[in-house]
Amino acid sequence: MQTETGNGLSQAGTHDPAENSGFETMVRIEHDLSDVIDALALLGVKRCSECKQFFRSADPGALFENGHTVCYRCIPDWWSASSQRLGVAERERLEAKLASWLRKHHRAEVVKETPGKVLDTSNVDFQIVARCAECAGSGKLMEGERCRFCNGFGTVRIVVPK
Ligand SMILES: [Zn+2]
Ligand SMILES: [Zn+2]
Repeated sequence: MQTETGNGLSQAGTHDPAENSGFETMVRIEHDLSDVIDALALLGVKRCSECKQFFRSADPGALFENGHTVCYRCIPDWWSASSQRLGVAERERLEAKLASWLRKHHRAEVVKETPGKVLDTSNVDFQIVARCAECAGSGKLMEGERCRFCNGFGTVRIVVPK
């Protein structure tokens, strides 16, 4: 049986000393790189886990940090992927943190779901659907009446303007 390699050169398998030292060099570089990233964190520079860009952590609106370090631009994609992966309790915890971070640093507004009304998204950067904090997602207030903060839907939209 013949094996073809992409560049036409024969490969000597895993016992090639050059290849081993190449691997060791790479491990060392990775190690050095993670040391450098730790050092940068000390200087107040952190890296987005999604796009790998560096941001100043002194800017509180640049990175969302809660066990994850995600820059503002990466949030929509990151959130839609992780909200499906997380368990309910963890998702709700993170969702509440994310919603308050977006409100605090990106002028996000809580918008009620209104039956029959389509939200105008022309001035919206992105939005996430979050559990209504007033009724804890039940859609009802203590007296059993419909929650006026979410119109009884149990969820609200956190809308980030452009
Ligand atoms: Zn990013
Ligand atoms: Zn509610």
